[in-house]
Parts: sequence; C-alpha cells; structure tokens
Amino acid sequence: MPNAITLHDKTFELLVTHDSLLTAVDDIARKINTDFAEQEVHFVCVLEGAFIFAADLVRRITLPSNISFIKLSSYKGMQSTQQVNTVIGLDGSLAGKNVIIVEDIVDTGNTIEMLINTLQSHKPACIKTAALFFKKQVYTKQYPVDYYGFDSINGFIVGYGLDYDKLGRNLKDVYRARD
Ligand code: 5GP
Ligand code: MG
Repeated sequence: MPNAITLHDKTFELLVTHDSLLTAVDDIARKINTDFAEQEVHFVCVLEGAFIFAADLVRRITLPSNISFIKLSSYKGMQSTQQVNTVIGLDGSLAGKNVIIVEDIVDTGNTIEMLINTLQSHKPACIKTAALFFKKQVYTKQYPVDYYGFDSINGFIVGYGLDYDKLGRNLKDVYRARD
C-alpha cells in the first residue's frame, strides 16, 4: 500500500493498515458475540461511511442477526456542520429488539446522540453503539460508545468506507490528512 495518497486537493498519510482494521473488527465481533450470547441482535448500519465496517462486522457475528440501513449526514467536507439531518430508511419496528448501531466514526457525538434519541422512541430492549473509530478527546455526550476499535484518533481520516468529499471510501487502509 502507498504511504501517502492524494484526494482532490489534499495529501493523506497511511494511518491504519487493513490487517489492523480487521483485528479491531474481530475484537468487536467477539465482544458482541459474548455479550449477546443466545440472543437475537438487530444491527442498524449508518450509511454511507459504515458500509464496509458493517459488512466485515456482521460476517463475524454468530448470533441470529437482522441488519437494516439508515442514512443521515452531519458532515460537509472536513468540518462538522453541527447540523444533523433526520433519519431515513428505518422501516419496521425495533420494539423489544437488541439494537446495535454500527457507525464508522464517532466524533462530537451529535450524530449518535440524535440517532439514539430517535431509536429510543421505538422502545427497543437496548441500544448499543459500535463504532470503528472514536475521537474520544472531542466527544461531548453522555451516551457510552459501547464497542470501538480505535479511540485515540485525531485529525481527518479517510478509507475503509470513510470519504473526503465522496472520494476514498474504496481504500483498503485508513489514511489521515496531512496538516
Ligand atoms: P459527529 O456527529 O460525531 O460529530 O460526527 C459523526 C460523523 O461525522 C461520522 O459518522 C462521519 O460521517 C463524520 N466524520 C467525523 N470524523 C470524520 C473523519 O475523520 N473522517 C471522515 N471521513 N468523516 C468523519
Ligand atoms: Mg458516519
């Protein structure tokens, strides 16, 4: 894999290799399999960024699993707009279900907070959050991020589902924007 790539006007440097990503996904899957042993789980994958993480994660889950896909957005380019849009694509009831939100990255937590508040109105049995990346230092919310792969991420990252203005989602490895 290259050590640096260019997307649009920006240079990005290799941060996490594909192998390390998969090791983190293995760990998250193992924890979910243990925590929900013998129970059914319902994954809610937040498009678009989480699609690759979700695909790798659910194939490691040995529990009876439902998966649905929702869409919302709080990011434009490289800065959080603070505004969070409404949830689209949530069909069917989540009442009484063990819901696990699958997110690419939790940053300020605005998105996850809004999502949890919305999903709570469905009266699920529980709501857990699985995020591959967690920018712990800038997280401002009360809700726990129950499962995460990497929590000391800073800067803007792309690859493995994450984009920079629509480019970079297809990269196997994760890269960080050079300052
Ligand atoms: P939050 O609402 O927690 O501030 O932001 C969550 C969303 O912002 C993530 O789901 C993701 O779509 C986007 N985001 C946050 N940090 C990054 C980043 O470093 N790179 C990319 N590509 N998206 C990010
Ligand atoms: Mg996201």
